[in-house]
Amino acid sequence: MTRLQIEQFPCRSDNFGVLIHDPATGATASIDAPEEAAILSALKRTGWSLSHILVTHHHLDHVEGIAALKSRFSAKVIAPQKEADKIPEVDETVVGGQTFEFANHTVEVIETPGHTLGHICYYMPEAATAFTADTLFALGCGRIFEGTPLQMHQSLQKLAALPDETVVYCGHEYTEANARFAVTIDPENEKLMARAEEIHALRAAGKPTLPTTIGIEKETNPFLRADDPKIRALLHMPDAEDSDVFAEIRRRKDSF
Ligand code: ZN
Ligand code: FE
Repeated sequence: MTRLQIEQFPCRSDNFGVLIHDPATGATASIDAPEEAAILSALKRTGWSLSHILVTHHHLDHVEGIAALKSRFSAKVIAPQKEADKIPEVDETVVGGQTFEFANHTVEVIETPGHTLGHICYYMPEAATAFTADTLFALGCGRIFEGTPLQMHQSLQKLAALPDETVVYCGHEYTEANARFAVTIDPENEKLMARAEEIHALRAAGKPTLPTTIGIEKETNPFLRADDPKIRALLHMPDAEDSDVFAEIRRRKDSF
């Protein structure tokens, strides 16, 4: 099996576009369609032709380019069943726990309610790569717009259960702001401190901070570390449920 090629590029104000290309078949998928123009120029730059759009959730900054790209390329639009009525031009719906094939590569659908109720992530085990959109960010997680903190915590735990080496692409470049918050929750975490410095340097140089990995996030992302004794002590929640500790971290971030 040939290896997938992945092209990540910034679009809109702080979104990422991601293209996945299978050289053997020529198939190319866009993870979401934040913006037609940026995706078109990425396709031009790579010489790839769009065959699929894999949608994670219904927010405008993830679906706005779908109609234009579909009419140009006749790309197949795959979207979460629970939000299909809010997403334009859907050809095929998918649900959590199912798998499908993209150019002979298995894609697993992971249901991750919280940011929205139907949000899904896509995981490609052979490529050890996950596309987590607005559920898991580098050093952060999505705002809980539709679900509950408990749901979001469970969704993040599903992602944390993927192998440590899993490469993670996210929906937004929020890492620097996330780092500023993370160090207030986990100030004695040396790996986090070192990473925060790296992130500031990358952003100062105009470079992306992503992709990340599940292993790095488990070591440094406070939203995946609700079971950490030092974080619990800092929050005065030594004996609370993990999901309540997570909810408190999310609440503090919302007003940070
Ligand atoms: Zn969103
Ligand atoms: Fe978004």
